[in-house]
Amino acid sequence: MNKYADLHLHTNASDGEYSPQFVVRAAKAQGFTAIAITDHDTLSGLPEALKTSGEVNLELIAGVEISTVWQSKEIHILGYLLDIDNSPLQEKLVEMKSSRSQRIKNMVIQLRNLGYDINFCEVLEISGSGAIGRPHIAKILVKKGYVKTIKEAFIKLLSPGCPAYIPRYKITPQEAIKLILNARGIPVLAHPGVNPDDNLLPYLKEIGLQGIEVWHPEHNNQAVDKYYSLAKTYELLMTGGSDWHGSNKDTNFFLGSIKIEYSLVENLKVRKQELIRCKLQTD
Ligand SMILES: [Zn+2]
Ligand SMILES: [Zn+2]
Repeated sequence: MNKYADLHLHTNASDGEYSPQFVVRAAKAQGFTAIAITDHDTLSGLPEALKTSGEVNLELIAGVEISTVWQSKEIHILGYLLDIDNSPLQEKLVEMKSSRSQRIKNMVIQLRNLGYDINFCEVLEISGSGAIGRPHIAKILVKKGYVKTIKEAFIKLLSPGCPAYIPRYKITPQEAIKLILNARGIPVLAHPGVNPDDNLLPYLKEIGLQGIEVWHPEHNNQAVDKYYSLAKTYELLMTGGSDWHGSNKDTNFFLGSIKIEYSLVENLKVRKQELIRCKLQTD
């Protein structure tokens, strides 16, 4: 029987709909051998996911998806097989989280100055335990009748160049790659087809990137072929996943939409051991 994996899943520890426990059980029910939980800028869903994966006998790969900016483009870097108690990684993610909520606070203040009746507590209430963001502000603006849709809130107020917009604090891809390598993880470029840039890959490879996400719901067959051959050219590992956030998000992204061969997971593990050996030799 073929063994397969999904190496890109979100939970309500970031902006996913379901708990880590639910996601692990759902993946088990679909027959996956291994999955990775890769929440945005946080490891906080991993302890629960690891516990459940032990209960249901599913291999759980500790992952993360770090948001970075390179030449004013948003680039996501996935990290796999992380040591989840690595303090520099944890501390940086906490710093990113607190700056995220400070930014939303400042945007709310800006909106109040512009005459909108909105306060930070309302935004917190809507965001719950997950990562707070602009969509939560947009929801309140819709609820209060200032705009008709979330999209309109973004177009009129919340996007770059708009009156209430404040840029987000982001780290560079280089910082993210370093943090992941330091935590004995494998840094992988997420969905390169979403924001394509032909100069990015050679640069990232140079600074320590180990892999590339070839299979992703936003990649059509052509994109898959392209990134498959680029992975070969640059001698990068290949990964893939559904980027599932739950049923309330984009319907193209569903659990089971991407199933990659389990051998690709084994390649990640081999690379991890090689990196550790390499590091021991150079230390
Ligand atoms: Zn992403
Ligand atoms: Zn994602």
